[in-house]
Amino acid sequence: MDRFDTIIVGAGISGLAAARLLRGEGRRTVVLEARDRIGGRVHTDRTDGWVTDLGASWIHGITDSPVAAAATAFGMPMREFTVGGYQPDSRPIAYFGPDGARLSAEETRRHIADIRRIDADLVGIIARSEPRASYRDVTDQALAAQGWDAERTQRVREYFEHRSEEQYGARIDDLAAHGLDDDAIEGDEVVFPGGYDVLAQRLADGVDVRLEEVVREVHWNGDGVTAVTDAGAWHARSAVVTVPVGVLASGDLTISPALPDPVAGALSRLRMNAFEKVFLRFPVRFWDADVYALRAQGPAAQWWHSWYDLTDLHGEPTLLTFAAGPAGVGIRDLSDREVGEAAAGPLRRLYPGGYVDPIHVRVTRWWADPFARGSYAYMRVGSTTADHDDLATPVGDVLHLAGEATWTDDPATVTAALCSGHRAAERVLGRFVPIESLWA
Ligand SMILES: Cc1cc2nc3c(=O)[nH]c(=O)nc-3n(C[C@H](O)[C@H](O)[C@H](O)COP(=O)(O)OP(=O)(O)OC[C@H]3O[C@@H](n4cnc5c(N)ncnc54)[C@H](O)[C@@H]3O)c2cc1C
Repeated sequence: MDRFDTIIVGAGISGLAAARLLRGEGRRTVVLEARDRIGGRVHTDRTDGWVTDLGASWIHGITDSPVAAAATAFGMPMREFTVGGYQPDSRPIAYFGPDGARLSAEETRRHIADIRRIDADLVGIIARSEPRASYRDVTDQALAAQGWDAERTQRVREYFEHRSEEQYGARIDDLAAHGLDDDAIEGDEVVFPGGYDVLAQRLADGVDVRLEEVVREVHWNGDGVTAVTDAGAWHARSAVVTVPVGVLASGDLTISPALPDPVAGALSRLRMNAFEKVFLRFPVRFWDADVYALRAQGPAAQWWHSWYDLTDLHGEPTLLTFAAGPAGVGIRDLSDREVGEAAAGPLRRLYPGGYVDPIHVRVTRWWADPFARGSYAYMRVGSTTADHDDLATPVGDVLHLAGEATWTDDPATVTAALCSGHRAAERVLGRFVPIESLWA
């Protein structure tokens, strides 16, 4: 086998970013990718002419976003869609009360004001919270201080439960109090009508990627790193391992000697989530056309509460909803048809006069994917925000972990993946490299 300067494990956005930068600096770099495609959790399906992003869809705020800068430079069309981050009101949303009736404008305004009140109070409460506090603990504390009646309190409580599930794919009791610290959205959110995977394709341009190379073992010592695949062993002076934390925790890929602290400690506290997309295509658009999303309240909407209107994007009446947290676990043994019935059925109550069944259902199964093992990582109770950066602490100066879970500022995103790949490349090189060289 050839000897390389650096081996990159994984051709997702973080691995491709690292490889592209290192190659640009004249390093002999190879990317070993387990799947038969690049992109990892950025994956666009183009079956039957539809462009469907099965993994990431959004840039959650384009202001100062390196992903937006890269997408612009690569000529990727972007469409504004500013409710991706479970925001209560940045764009029109149709809210429906527990009885299934649409809330009036005034009721909606009051509910959103209540959410904003709790959000404001949470800043101080989270800052003062105990190390083992959950997001449930801090929101309950904020709610208890308001003196609201039970009904009003419950409507806001369930909003925060759903935010935890939809943003991080985790039950509110399992998410650390600081688990949503990064939730601020700066500027418009956008999606990609031509597919997010163009970003991966452009980053991979000219990069040496070897597909269907499943790395089983990574050995490191002072001299360098060896990656063992079914086909053989690859040697290099350094390596960047970008596989999701779920793959690292599974033992399917072993690292020896074992990862030291603080890397090992951080890895033990971050956990892959339960978060799947459900695309519902209908013969007609029976829902309100002037809103970005539909959002239902109350006990009947525990699992299925938010539907995002992709009609303009897909050119056919389409709603996207998420099976997140408990729902993400609950659908694992259900067929796509059963998930579709469960996810679309509640709309019958919201639109009794117009509802029709979906004609096509698509459900993602990231949890069952051995090279993902979930959609992205969340901070379990007991973890700290520093765990993200700690996970990327260089090991023996030859081994670097990168990927969405290793970036503190905006973890669980494409931005985090891109930035962590850039940081890993800089550490391998031992010097500053402008991130802009990724798309220059
Ligand atoms: C359903 C869903 C929705 C999302 N929505 C958004 C969103 O709207 N906006 C956003 O910013 N982010 C979103 N994300 C998160 C975003 O997709 C990820 O944070 C990002 O793509 C992760 O990139 P990465 O390079 O860190 O990891 P990955 O993309 O997972 O890349 C790691 C690579 O390693 C490979 N690999 C794994 N094991 C091995 C092995 N043993 N040997 C060799 N290769 C291996 C994998 O196949 C993969 O290609 C979403 C993710 C999902 C799944």
